[in-house]
Amino acid sequence: MTITRFAPSPTGRLHVGNIRTALHNWMLAEKAGGEFILRIDDTDAARSKEEYVEAIRTDLAWLGIAADREERQSERLDRYEVAFNQLKDAGRIYPAYETQQELELKRKVLLGRGLPPIYDRGALDLTEEEREAKQAAGIEPHWRFKLDHDEAIVWEDGVRGTAKFDPKLLSDPVIRRADGSWLYMLPSTVDDVDMGVTQVLRGEDHVSNTAVQIQMFTAMDAAVPSFAHEALLVGKEGKLSKRLGSLGCDVFREKGIEPEAILALLSRLGTSLPVEPITDRAILLDTFDLSTFGRAPARFDDADLDRINTAIVHAMPYEAVKERLPEDIDQAGWHAVQPNIATVGEVAEWWRLVTGPIEQPEFADDDKAYLAEAARTLRWSDDPWSALTSALKESTGRKGKTLFLPLRQALTGMNHGPDMGELLPLIGEAEAKARLERAAK
Ligand code: GLU
Repeated sequence: MTITRFAPSPTGRLHVGNIRTALHNWMLAEKAGGEFILRIDDTDAARSKEEYVEAIRTDLAWLGIAADREERQSERLDRYEVAFNQLKDAGRIYPAYETQQELELKRKVLLGRGLPPIYDRGALDLTEEEREAKQAAGIEPHWRFKLDHDEAIVWEDGVRGTAKFDPKLLSDPVIRRADGSWLYMLPSTVDDVDMGVTQVLRGEDHVSNTAVQIQMFTAMDAAVPSFAHEALLVGKEGKLSKRLGSLGCDVFREKGIEPEAILALLSRLGTSLPVEPITDRAILLDTFDLSTFGRAPARFDDADLDRINTAIVHAMPYEAVKERLPEDIDQAGWHAVQPNIATVGEVAEWWRLVTGPIEQPEFADDDKAYLAEAARTLRWSDDPWSALTSALKESTGRKGKTLFLPLRQALTGMNHGPDMGELLPLIGEAEAKARLERAAK
């Protein structure tokens, strides 16, 4: 069974990059009939906030990305302690006493010599007495995972193909701080083991973490899940963008973007498949395939999202949208204004043309006479607009813009807008007549 997870740290709102990762993991599981776990990475007690946990749940619910279960790292600290002790006993975790400044200095020296800033394992050279002296002086150690230097780390990446790391070129990662708190690396691996995660899909900023974590899985005698790393999302200029980091569901919602537009875009952005306004999730799932993902950064452009959103709104059936419409809009009302809107929220603006009051322009005298004639001519039928305009064309000799524009202006107060043939029946006979008469005065 395929088990995937989305593991946000609740230190802020989800941004579009996180949403993409969540979506793809959900899709992998959904497509395989597997399980999708929401894992809250909240070991950092100082930075994690309950309001963000809530916001993550709300955002995923709004997107329609439902987790099969939720896990929290803060409730699993005992488990990490056990794994930590086992790995320590097996000689895979060691204490280190360097201060931040010492480490920084070591880095600078290496970089100054043009060497990669790899931790020199100085802590492993300490004698028992030296360690005891540190402890006696009240210096608590932080803890590092000892990488096995003997063999290259290799995996078949679902997006990047064969990935290979020389462990000697990696620093032994710090996994636990001196105050006992956890860094990301070990808890995540323990969780992936315990929760039976079979597939880890995340951003390529995690590639070197994967190399380390593969060694952790092996050190814990656990099966290594399959890994895939997606190219990062960049702004339309092709650069990592700060703005994308603050672009999330709240912003999209406010802009009137439909969740389905976000899904349609993000499920295909950065793949070889065309980005289309597809609202049928079955189609998106069917065509979702890691082998279509490219290695070049995926460019996120708001204009694409707006375009897809508009297309989706234009195709939305009344039933799907009616709860969100002004109360008195029926099927015909939705149909009349639908082609004129880019977001569902814009309906209200156009609907005011029907319900009024409207503000009419001041008309020239000949138009006033024309509109008075229109008020007298108006007859109600299935299609009052065609009847009215045909009759007026005949009686006044007007055509084109001079025939239609004063009528539209008198009836809606606007120079453009929804199809008058659809709008006039919605305005109704009495109100339409009153508007024409008012314009003629
Ligand atoms: N909490 C980590 C992050 O947000 C999870 C990374 C992972 O998927 O393992 O980057």
